[in-house]
Amino acid sequence: MKQTVLVSGGAGFIGSHVTVELSNAGYDVVIADNMSNCDETNYNGVCKILGRKLPLVKMDFCDAEAVDKLFETYSIDAVIHFAAFKAVGESVAEPLMYYRNNLVSFINLLETARKRKDGCNVLFSSSATVYGETDKLPVTETSPRQPATSPYGNTKQMCEDILRDSVKAYEGIKGIALRYFNPIGAHPSALIGELPRGVPNNLVPFITQTAIGKRACLSIFGNDYPTPDGTCLRDYIDIVDLAKAHVCAVARMLDGKMKEEYEIFNVGTGTPLSVMELVTAFEKVNNLKLNYKFAPRRSGDVVAIWADPTLANKELGWKAERKIEDTLAAVWAWEKHIA
Ligand code: UDP
Repeated sequence: MKQTVLVSGGAGFIGSHVTVELSNAGYDVVIADNMSNCDETNYNGVCKILGRKLPLVKMDFCDAEAVDKLFETYSIDAVIHFAAFKAVGESVAEPLMYYRNNLVSFINLLETARKRKDGCNVLFSSSATVYGETDKLPVTETSPRQPATSPYGNTKQMCEDILRDSVKAYEGIKGIALRYFNPIGAHPSALIGELPRGVPNNLVPFITQTAIGKRACLSIFGNDYPTPDGTCLRDYIDIVDLAKAHVCAVARMLDGKMKEEYEIFNVGTGTPLSVMELVTAFEKVNNLKLNYKFAPRRSGDVVAIWADPTLANKELGWKAERKIEDTLAAVWAWEKHIA
C-alpha cells in the first residue's frame, strides 16, 4: 500500500517542489496550506507536472481542531512541516506574530501526532541560519548553534528543540530536522518556482526580477568582505536537489533506517559561491547583462557560510547533483513564465 505524506505549507516554494518529488517517488501526498503567503500558482503547477489533482486542504496549523481533523480524515504516515513565516526583517518588526505562528503551528502538529497510537514521523524544515557567524567552515551538524539574530531565526532553533524534546518524551514520535543552506531554483518544467510577495529579500528572485525589468537595479550588499572577490559566500542549493533530500529523509524514517530517534542533516552542496560569481554565472548562462551596483553591507549578513554535507551524503544517500548553470537557467525560465 502506498504511504501518505502530509506536507504542511505544500503550496509554497519549497513545499511544491517536495510534493512533486515525493509523488514521483511513489508516495501519496496531502497538501495543507492556509495560503497566507501564496496563491494557487504552484499548486496548479504541481498538478500539471504530475498530470493529476492532489488533495489541497486549506487550513491553518494554528487551529488545533483543524489539525486533529486533518489527521482523522487522512491516514498519514509522515509529516513534513513547512508552514511558517520566513521573512527575517518582518520578524524583527512583528516578533509576536512570528512566535505565535511558527511555534503554535508546530506545537499543534506535535500535539496531534503524540495522540496517535501509531506514532508519527515528523520532518522539520530548519535552516543554516541556526549556525550564525562562524570561523570554522564548512559547518557540520555538530558545529555549535549561535544565538539567533532575529525572531525568525529563533523560531527555527526553538522548533528544532521542541522536536528534539518531544521525540525524547513521547513514544512513537520520530523526528528529522533538515538544515537548508540557500535554496534557489525552479522546476525544469518552469511550472513551479519562487513567488516572492513585494520586493524580494533574497538574492536570486531579485536578480531575475531585475533581468526582466521589474526592478531597476540589483544592489550587491558589500564588496569589501574578507573573501576572494569581496562579496559574501553562500552555499546555493538547487530546489529540486533539496526536494530530493526530503524524499530520502522520509524514506529513512518510514523504512526504519534512523540511527537515532531525532536526527539532523545539513542540506547543501558543500561548495561556496560568492554573490559576484552567482551574478556573473547568471549573466553568462542566460546570455544577458544585469544592471547591478555595489551597495553598503546589509546588516545581519554573515560573511561566509557553506555546508559540510558529508553526513547527508552518507546517511541519506543523497547528494546535490544539479549544476549551478542549470539552476540559473531554470530561474530565468520561471521568471519569464510568470511575467
Ligand atoms: N544579497 C545582495 N543583494 C540582494 C539580496 C541579497 O547582495 O538584493 C546578498 C546578501 O547580502 C547575501 C547573499 O546575497 O550575501 C544571499 O542573501 P539571501 O538574502 O538570498 O540569503 P541569506 O544568505 O541572507 O539567507
